[in-house]
Amino acid sequence: MGGMLAGTKVAMLGGDAREIVLLEELLRRGAEVQVAGLGDLPEREGCTCYDHPPDAVRGAGVIILPVPGVKAGGTIHAPLARRPLYFTGELAAAIPPGTPVLVGVAKAFLKEIAAERGWQLVETAEMDEMAILNSIPTAEGAIMMAMQELPITLHGSEAFVLGLGRTGFTLARMLAGIGARVTVVDRGAPDRARAYAVGWPAFAFTDLAAVIARADVIFNTVPAPVLTGELLALTRPGVLIIDLASDPGGTDFAAAAALKRRAVLAPGLPGKVAPRTAGEILARVYPAVIRKCLGRL
Ligand code: NAP
Repeated sequence: MGGMLAGTKVAMLGGDAREIVLLEELLRRGAEVQVAGLGDLPEREGCTCYDHPPDAVRGAGVIILPVPGVKAGGTIHAPLARRPLYFTGELAAAIPPGTPVLVGVAKAFLKEIAAERGWQLVETAEMDEMAILNSIPTAEGAIMMAMQELPITLHGSEAFVLGLGRTGFTLARMLAGIGARVTVVDRGAPDRARAYAVGWPAFAFTDLAAVIARADVIFNTVPAPVLTGELLALTRPGVLIIDLASDPGGTDFAAAAALKRRAVLAPGLPGKVAPRTAGEILARVYPAVIRKCLGRL
C-alpha cells in the first residue's frame, strides 16, 4: 500500500482505543507497524504484533507511546494488553539514539531516559495543533461534569473560566453558547482584551477576590496554584470547581475540602469522554509529525 508513510517502520507500545484509531491511519498511510500491548488485533497487512516490547521496537524508525505515556515506576499505559507492559532497560537499550519517540505527556521518568539515550522525545499534547483540537473534547467533558454535578442549569449560571489559553478559550465559547454568563480570569492584558472583544467580562487574578463570590461554577485551566485557600474562602458554599489543569491542578484541594467546597481534578477528559474523536485527532496530527521528525517535510 502506498502513502505518505510508505517505507516507514513504526513501533506502537501500549495505548487504548485512541491508539487503535491511530494504528488504522498509520496503516492506511502505508506505514509498517510493529505493535505490543494493544490487545488482540485482527490480522492485517503491514501490522505485526509482538508479546515482548523490545521485539516490537527492533528496526523501527519511530516509537509511539500512548498519550498518557509511562508512569513513574515504568508501567506503560496499556489497558488493552493481556498483562502489564513495562518500560524496561532492555526495551530502552533496543531504541537507538536519535530515534523519534512520540508521547502525549512525558513524565520525569521518560524524560530522563530519553535524555540519557539521546532520543528525539516529542510531547505531542503540548503541540498547538493537538492542544487546540483536544480542547474540544476537554471542554465538552468539563461541561458534562458540570451538568452532572450542579443542581442548576449552566444556562443562566455564573461560569468562571480561569486561563484563556487553548482549553480556556474553547470552554468559554461553549459555555457562552449554552447560555452561561461567562467571566474570564487571565493574567495577560491582551487575552483579557480578547475576552472583552468577544463579550465576556475579564479580570486579572489580582482582581479575582472581588468577584469570585458570584461564581456558580469555576473551571480552572491554569497549571499553577491560582485557586488559593484565601480565594476559596470567598466563594459561595454551593460553588463547583472543576480543575482541568495537569496534575496537581491549580486548586488548593485541601483548603477546598476544609471549606466544604466541591472541587474535582478532571484529567484526561478527551480519552475518557470521546476516545474515538481523541483517536481521530492523533490520526490527523501524527503522520505529519512523524514525517517532520524523519526530516521528510
Ligand atoms: P495553555 O494554552 O498554555 O493555557 C494555559 C493558561 O494558563 C494560559 O492562559 C496561561 O497564561 C495560564 N497560565 C499559565 N501559568 C500561569 C500562572 N503561573 N499564572 C497565571 N496564569 C498562568 O494550555 P492549555 O492547552 O489550555 O491547557 C491548560 C491545562 O489543561 C494544561 O495543564 C494541560 O495539560 C491541561 N489539559 C487538561 C486536559 C484534561 O482533560 N483535563 C486536556 C487538555 C489539557 P499565559 O498565556 O499568559 O501563559
